[in-house]
Amino acid sequence: MSMEWEKKGILIVISGFSGAGKGTLVKALLKKYDNYALSVSMTTRKPREGERDGVDYFFTDREHFEETIRSNGLIEYARYCDNYYGTPRDYVEKQLQAGNNVILEIEIQGALKIKEQFPESLLIFITPPNADELKRRLVNRGTESEDVIAKRLGRAAEESEGIEAYDYIVVNDDLGTCVEEVHRLVEDSRRMPVRRKAFIEEIRNELKMFVKGEA
Ligand code: 5GP
Repeated sequence: MSMEWEKKGILIVISGFSGAGKGTLVKALLKKYDNYALSVSMTTRKPREGERDGVDYFFTDREHFEETIRSNGLIEYARYCDNYYGTPRDYVEKQLQAGNNVILEIEIQGALKIKEQFPESLLIFITPPNADELKRRLVNRGTESEDVIAKRLGRAAEESEGIEAYDYIVVNDDLGTCVEEVHRLVEDSRRMPVRRKAFIEEIRNELKMFVKGEA
């Protein structure tokens, strides 16, 4: 018999340096397994070539973004390299309720806010094997100017200060291995031990019902 707390999905935060291969990893995970849902963020950043509104991001302007913050429409948001990024609330709540694991591909300030609000969420930090490899991937992506690459490497140095906050670090060297490793972490935490609290609460309540003679 599966219990109520087991049916609900978990929130998975995937962070990592810009260029760590998070996007590719998430796509592979969604393709291989069917109980994942990806939250599409809202941003004030301009679309890159090939990015689609509503698929990669909900692209919007600053005014609308700030309005969404005020109406409590985001579960978290952050400023990153001069732009706003945030997670729309509705989609996340519906998917969790439906039993799906929801992936948030967000940066560290947002990740910390999620952990505060959802203590059972799983925070995973994806990293290339070393800093040289990170720089190589950013340059090879070819979508950013030199100036932006420098800014993102600067930001990576800052972010490296916060890695301890994550539950797990996964090295993205081989994509297939990385996908399996992340999936295993998710499956493990759906069972235990991050969800211990929900389990304890539920079994306690059920036992109390027995005592009261209501079950
Ligand atoms: P990019 O401009 O490369 O698409 O994203 C820049 C950074 O913003 C990445 O680290 C990405 O994970 C993060 N990000 C994307 N969406 C969100 C969001 O909704 N909230 C937060 N806090 N960060 C986000």
